[in-house]
Amino acid sequence: MNSTVYIPHPTSLADRLALIRAAMDTARAGSPAVASRVELIAASKTQPAEILAEAIALGITAFGENKVQEAQAKWPALKAAHPQVQLHLIGPLQSNKAAEAVALFDVIQTIDREKIARAVAAEIARQGRSVSCMIQVNTGEEPQKGGVAPRDLAGLVALCRELELPLVGLMCIPPADQNAAPHFALLNRLAAEQGLNGRSMGMSDDFSAAIRLGATAVRIGTRLFGARQS
Ligand SMILES: *Cc1c(COP(=O)(O)O)cnc(C)c1O
Repeated sequence: MNSTVYIPHPTSLADRLALIRAAMDTARAGSPAVASRVELIAASKTQPAEILAEAIALGITAFGENKVQEAQAKWPALKAAHPQVQLHLIGPLQSNKAAEAVALFDVIQTIDREKIARAVAAEIARQGRSVSCMIQVNTGEEPQKGGVAPRDLAGLVALCRELELPLVGLMCIPPADQNAAPHFALLNRLAAEQGLNGRSMGMSDDFSAAIRLGATAVRIGTRLFGARQS
């Protein structure tokens, strides 16, 4: 019995967070291209308020939600109680939800077309709320996926600047069936070309590669919270 070696399986949120933070540090140590600071965004879709409160208590300060409506049900009370929390919209935004999104989120990562840029800019002006924006780039040019095509990015960036949208960076979700690294490298290059600092890229399975290729924020769900119930 004594010869059995138990490799501890991280069963608590605290343990999983510690492993992720250690892996993030390792990735940062290994590459010259890394950003000076890499933010962990907890991708918290489907997670209930009790789990979110536990994550906040462990020191996580950035969360990403995919749906405006789900976030509206979960976050207002938690945000009021924990003003340090920054909420990111990481799922697609429809223009008829722009008012609600601007009222709730601190960062909107999924600006991807003129109509959304205009709607968000108008709401920011109307509500007087400061909301940082990122443009989602469809690096794999997948027809079913949100994001602007790389060739149309410069035009959308120019429009956002004309609208005085507070643009802080780019985000991407690489095709699920491909090596993500070339997509991260592309997003990194596009951000540099556009003079944008933020690069939101990398999820549970590929965040180390994303960090080595210049991510300033990684969005991690499954590795942190465990498998999602669907
Ligand atoms: C769910 C989601 C993530 C996190 O994905 P995991 O593989 O669970 O880490 C990251 N980004 C977006 C846009 C997501 O929808």
